[in-house]
Amino acid sequence: MNMADALHFRESMARHVSWRAGGAADRLFAPPDLEALAAFLRSLPKGEPVLFVGLGSNLLVRDGGFRGSVILTHSAKKNARMDGDRIYADAGVASPKVARFAATHHFAGAEFLAGIPGTVGGALAMNAGCYGGETWDIVAKVVTVDRSGALREREKREYDISYRHCELRSGDEEWFVAAYFRLQPGDGAASTARIKELLARRMATQPLSLPNAGSVFRNPPGDHAARLIESCGLKGLARGGARVSEKHANFIVNPDGAASAADIEGLILEVKKTVLERTGVELVPEVRIVGEPA
Ligand SMILES: Cc1cc2nc3c(=O)[nH]c(=O)nc-3n(C[C@H](O)[C@H](O)[C@H](O)COP(=O)(O)OP(=O)(O)OC[C@H]3O[C@@H](n4cnc5c(N)ncnc54)[C@H](O)[C@@H]3O)c2cc1C
Repeated sequence: MNMADALHFRESMARHVSWRAGGAADRLFAPPDLEALAAFLRSLPKGEPVLFVGLGSNLLVRDGGFRGSVILTHSAKKNARMDGDRIYADAGVASPKVARFAATHHFAGAEFLAGIPGTVGGALAMNAGCYGGETWDIVAKVVTVDRSGALREREKREYDISYRHCELRSGDEEWFVAAYFRLQPGDGAASTARIKELLARRMATQPLSLPNAGSVFRNPPGDHAARLIESCGLKGLARGGARVSEKHANFIVNPDGAASAADIEGLILEVKKTVLERTGVELVPEVRIVGEPA
């Protein structure tokens, strides 16, 4: 691939996030491989803001856009393979693929990833999880890259990890390029059946046919954000093209693809304010919102 083909200017991020809304990135680089990624990072001016994006399934870029460089990991050449008794996956590999790969190789414990429509890099950054499983529960080690393009292997203990949170304790600026997962030997057919069951549960409860970004708010301790939002009668509440889903109150949907990022962010703030006023619970957004207002 010609390197120039991988670099785009003023690229609409609505094309790269699952909400299908939002502004443009000044530069977007889709590295064909690790070498190109390292060279691109090295070439950036000091202080240039960098945003790694997987499948954009937990992300909103404000309508004024992102002043910096987006690195799109999902379009890179990517690979999932066995590495001894561990599974290796590049950061751009889709999380559901890891779930299926593990089942095919008779490993149990990655089934929960099947319904999380992001990449391995996004799952590590968010400590994504559901139905009792969390990404970092199954991580053996990760590989990161820094601004100089240097690759490093990092152990789990080097990160501060909690519910939907992951931060390098040293505070160094690094991004994920791969993960090694350690899973228990299992029964492939049982894992495949479990995956089917979890996906069916999602189909029944989540508005998967409409653009959305999964759960907007984290669940507060001992409760569910969806329950609180529904109890305030906010299902169906709309702002511009954005609407609180009728099917799942913790989802905001963009049914006609016409919502602006401001519609979505405004609706998030309205839901947060109403839930606080009526229940006393302060909801914390799970989705990441970046960039400049229009
Ligand atoms: C229908 C639906 C259902 C969902 N269900 C769940 C669920 O059950 N549980 C759950 O936890 N989440 C869920 N999500 C949210 C989302 O899928 C997860 O957070 C997912 O892990 C995000 O991955 P991504 O690649 O799309 O990340 P993105 O949205 O692209 O990025 C999210 C964050 O991760 C950072 N990031 C991405 N890649 C890297 C990298 N390589 N290195 C460093 N940082 C990086 C980004 O900068 C950003 O801050 C759901 C979303 C949808 C749309």
